[in-house]
Amino acid sequence: MIIPKLDKLSADQLKEIESIVEEFDCNILEIQGHNQCVYAILGDETHAVMFKRIAGLSYIRKVDAIESPYKLMDRRSALSNHQVCIGKTIIGKEKPFIIGGPCTIDPNSPQLYIETAHALKEAGVDALRGGVWKPRTNPYSYQGDNKAIEIILRAKEETGLPIDIEVMDSAQLRIALDSKVDILQIGTRNALNYSLLKEIGEKSAGTNSSVLLKRGRHVASPDEFIAAAEYLVASGNPNVMLCPRGTTPPLDGYRNHPDESISPLLKNKTWAPVIVDPSHSVGHSEYVLASSLSAITYGADGLCIESHIDPSKGIGDDPKQAITPEEMKELILSCAEIWKYRYLPKD
Ligand code: PEP
Ligand code: MN
Repeated sequence: MIIPKLDKLSADQLKEIESIVEEFDCNILEIQGHNQCVYAILGDETHAVMFKRIAGLSYIRKVDAIESPYKLMDRRSALSNHQVCIGKTIIGKEKPFIIGGPCTIDPNSPQLYIETAHALKEAGVDALRGGVWKPRTNPYSYQGDNKAIEIILRAKEETGLPIDIEVMDSAQLRIALDSKVDILQIGTRNALNYSLLKEIGEKSAGTNSSVLLKRGRHVASPDEFIAAAEYLVASGNPNVMLCPRGTTPPLDGYRNHPDESISPLLKNKTWAPVIVDPSHSVGHSEYVLASSLSAITYGADGLCIESHIDPSKGIGDDPKQAITPEEMKELILSCAEIWKYRYLPKD
């Protein structure tokens, strides 16, 4: 990892470094953070001579070899001070970042989504979610509809809130990027789909679209989860958030096995914000508050929660696990109250 003295290398400086690393069969990847550009060395970066030559250049502050399987995600990496911003909000600073909205946008009842969005804004959410395209276990269930993107874009325009939608393939990614979607969600089923992760990282590099990466539900270990996020960052987009959402097999009575307790492990290993999804984790609206409080206590920077103005009229997961905007308001107030007691890494 190469850190220049100024916030960015000039074109000539970059060329000079590229020609050095090429001698050692390595490449350079430029990663644009909010304040500073850092440069990852891709390939076998253990060549001492290569290191010395780069470190000796007058415009270089530091060259680091990080002995970690995820050298960009690591808390000791050059990105350790990287902050993820959604709109004007820096995630993890002042209060929990709350993403709320229905599981699935019903294209036949746009008004329900719009009313939900306004009620959630009133309740205090920081961003709106809503499934446009849905990964469904049953191939005959509702799969989503391009029309729903217009509905969530209208909600964004009317409320001024950033939006989060799940993308599962190149065509959906193109539509989401053209629509300037603020948060690209990668669902649990694609959490280890490395070619999709690379494509999303590459195509969203340099845009204002951040990525919310869910944890693979088949008990991806924290390291496997972080390594998946590394694909996104190594492909060019450092604006990545990690989202535990429960794993299988489910705990009897819950939809999945709740895993908000891995938040401190993630916070210790990486610099990335953790946004827990309690809705898919417990799968019942009545447990969402308890799971949310637990997640914040464990150090989560925010929550992604399914919420609907009238859950019984929702499609997808909403009838069983969405909370109402009134419940959301209480939840946001309660989470803000315990924010100061949350787990924080020691150093
Ligand atoms: C969702 O957020 O509605 C969803 C399908 O999530 P997951 O990928 O975690 O199942
Ligand atoms: Mn859902």
